[in-house]
Amino acid sequence: MKEKTKRKFVNPDLSIIIPIYNEEENLRPLTLELKEVLETYGHSFEIIFINDGSKDSSIKILKEFVKEFNMNIKVINFEKNCGQTAAFDAGFKQAGGEVLITMDADMQNDPRDIPLLLKKLEEYDLVCGWRQKREDSFIKKASSIVANWVRNKISEESIQDTGCSLKAFRKEVPRHLKLFSGMHRFFPTLAKMEGFSVVEVKVNHRPRIYGKSKYNIRNRIIKSFLDLLAVRWMKKRRLDYKIKEIVQ
Ligand code: UDP
Ligand code: MG
Repeated sequence: MKEKTKRKFVNPDLSIIIPIYNEEENLRPLTLELKEVLETYGHSFEIIFINDGSKDSSIKILKEFVKEFNMNIKVINFEKNCGQTAAFDAGFKQAGGEVLITMDADMQNDPRDIPLLLKKLEEYDLVCGWRQKREDSFIKKASSIVANWVRNKISEESIQDTGCSLKAFRKEVPRHLKLFSGMHRFFPTLAKMEGFSVVEVKVNHRPRIYGKSKYNIRNRIIKSFLDLLAVRWMKKRRLDYKIKEIVQ
């Protein structure tokens, strides 16, 4: 049903940032679930959808949502597909919230985990979801175990599940991250390199009911490995000095 009055929050508590690439069937159930769940928490919020060059009717649906829902919804529409990191970056830059929450559009992340992330964010700068019971294909789960292992070994890291999009950032964290394509897989490491504290919390995971995963081993393995070498290089070459004194 179409709602008539529209509230605009000036500075919401939470900015929910969701990249969209061909997710037309997920958009309505996702938005309805976010509305139902987030409105019970008592935090003001905005939802920022980034349409990353979808070829289906996602952008048309998202534009309708801006008028239809009595919520603070912002749609950023890319000219063409630029990848998930670019989408997160654009979302971070448009976000006005104290806390920035990233998640997937495919309903695999559960917004009911958000209070848990917020609680931990009282102690840490970045809280990352760690999917307990992955509801993905065997191939996807196995490749992710290997990828996390290799990533941790090569980048001297200890993150269990960097692929989980459900994360909560204190607003100052993304402002300090200079992002490059593919870097969304390294948010925890990049944040630590800037001196931020990072923790993982166990979260729910659900099967993807509508649409298809955009990643497979073939389209990910070489690029992700090169990205990993870049992060390792950045970590090793990070300027790490302390000034003893300045005399003038
Ligand atoms: N996505 C995007 N641009 C891309 C690829 C993916 O915005 O080039 C979005 C996609 O619509 C979803 C999220 O990023 O909301 C994660 O993608 P997906 O669920 O396909 O990845 P998986 O969870 O299978 O690794
Ligand atoms: Mg997904």
